[in-house]
Amino acid sequence: MWQKVGLAALGPPYGLSISMPHLAINGGKPTLPEGPPSWPRAEDAVREALLAALADGSWGRYRGPHVERLAAALAEFHQTPFVLPCCSGTFAVELALRCLGIGVGDEVLLAGYDYPGNFRAIEAVGARPVLVDVAHDNWNLDAEPLRRALSEGNRQPATRAGATSEKELRGAIRALIVSHLHGGLAPMRELMQLADEFKLLVVEDICQCPGAMVDGRPAGTWGDCGVLSFGGSKLLSAGRGGAVFTRHADAFQRGKIFCEHGNHAFPLSELQAAVLLPQLARLAERNAARLAAAERLMLRLRDVPGLTPLVNRAAGSPVYYKLGLKYDGQVLGGRSRADFIAAAQAEGVAIDAGFRGFALRGPRRCRIVGDLAESRRAAETCLVLHHPVLLEPAETIDRVGDALARVAAAWVASG
Ligand SMILES: *Cc1c(COP(=O)(O)O)cnc(C)c1O
Repeated sequence: MWQKVGLAALGPPYGLSISMPHLAINGGKPTLPEGPPSWPRAEDAVREALLAALADGSWGRYRGPHVERLAAALAEFHQTPFVLPCCSGTFAVELALRCLGIGVGDEVLLAGYDYPGNFRAIEAVGARPVLVDVAHDNWNLDAEPLRRALSEGNRQPATRAGATSEKELRGAIRALIVSHLHGGLAPMRELMQLADEFKLLVVEDICQCPGAMVDGRPAGTWGDCGVLSFGGSKLLSAGRGGAVFTRHADAFQRGKIFCEHGNHAFPLSELQAAVLLPQLARLAERNAARLAAAERLMLRLRDVPGLTPLVNRAAGSPVYYKLGLKYDGQVLGGRSRADFIAAAQAEGVAIDAGFRGFALRGPRRCRIVGDLAESRRAAETCLVLHHPVLLEPAETIDRVGDALARVAAAWVASG
């Protein structure tokens, strides 16, 4: 009987022979044959902005109304007085450090899992990264490991008895870079309490989450400087571009002076600002649509083994640029993350590996506090789903869930 019908005839989850060939990577029909949507989307308002900039000649000028208008709109959006538009998010992180006067001899705390450019930004100003581990459930900075990092090693609380100079009070660690990554929110209220206690300046990287709210306050406004990106994949996109914003007049002034080389050396162009304005006007509405789609998808993934969404303990409203998932290959037939990515991409889903992280950086370039176990885990097992599909109808979101579930089911069956 077995021999005659074969395991395959019984259907999943009984046989590798039936489930495996159905995956697109094994020649089956993709769950999303249309593939992932492209980004940026074709958008009438952007087209009109481009045509208007062409008609009035502002597209070709050093100065015009758009950069100023964008700076004003971003200031209003973030309820902050000062905005410095610039050439990229990567540079904006460096500029923010310069705004805050961070430089040679200073140490800057950074998550062991973060955007690679943020490590470089610290080095670029002549400072030294001090790496701290991330939270196990959402792979963003967390108060507990940060407190340990500040208490261990050479770091003394600002209240240390007998300290005389400001420098002595501060120690070498002068600043903290906090990113909100992959739909995760860093717990800013707790982190800012620590920053206050240890007299740290804070750069808040919201390149992945413009418009997010953390504990009743816009992300990016908790710290001393907020940082935005307008890169080609980002939610607000001009192909390139970025901005720093701050409530400190002196920080703003320092940043402006750094950029002034006779001409603005790291500018955002009029044309870039022109296409960003209509996107900013629709950001809140789109963030809400992406959030609803992300929640729908995560609900679907609750029944899928091996894929666990990141969890936010901080109250607020996350924004999805990349939707982060923890990958557990052990429950998926021992398959690697790379295998999963290849199979999901073949199904038509824009999913990829997260950042490489800094857990393996040597002591010549940075100081490491603790074992960075979670940062390492994040680097090895994080999956990120790219955002454009989150603006698609619920039916498409469900097919994304189906595609991931299909790969997982096939591998559970085969393992
Ligand atoms: C994209 C990104 C940046 C840098 O932005 P670019 O404009 O692409 O240089 C910085 N930080 C984070 C967390 C990002 O995701």
